[in-house]
Amino acid sequence: MSTAYIALGSNLGDSHQYLMDAIEALARLPQTRVVARSRFYRTPPWGLLDQPPFVNAAVQIDTALPAEALLDALLAIERAAGRVRDGERWGPRTLDLDLLYMEGVLLNDARLTLPHPRIAERAFVLLPLHDLAPELVIPGQGRVAELLAAIDHGECEALP
Ligand code: ATP
Ligand code: CA
Ligand code: CA
Repeated sequence: MSTAYIALGSNLGDSHQYLMDAIEALARLPQTRVVARSRFYRTPPWGLLDQPPFVNAAVQIDTALPAEALLDALLAIERAAGRVRDGERWGPRTLDLDLLYMEGVLLNDARLTLPHPRIAERAFVLLPLHDLAPELVIPGQGRVAELLAAIDHGECEALP
């Protein structure tokens, strides 16, 4: 089994419910256990600013699935949530599941980059990840607590 962290985001429809359903779907994956989940956060849009705010969270899993199979499972869960890819990068979506980090896996191919290359610049990823693993060192980026301390997260709020 390896430890992995997955980022969840949604800004269309009932975002809170999409995230809850996605966590249940992750828990049903073969050879996989959801170990912990972060708080949920309301966060401003990133990359493409003219869209609704997001709800973001992260989960820690233990899994025996290889990284590629896990990515396939994440994309299938997104599709089941009605995610439409219309070619607009960073646009609004019912559900986005990103594989942030997988223990011992460094990858950079056409389908999968690990660790996820944009963790350090994203408060909406670092805040939930910090709930789960403040001491985790993301190879090539740094320790989660230090990465979070280095960026502005004033516009993100934890939801009750
Ligand atoms: P970003 O990666 O900047 O958060 P995004 O989540 O909006 O952008 P998507 O359109 O959801 O991007 O994904 C595009 C492709 O990214 C996926 O089809 C997948 O093959 C690829 N990808 C590469 N590395 C990863 C990763 N670590 N986690 C998830 N998808 C990845
Ligand atoms: Ca993403
Ligand atoms: Ca994605």
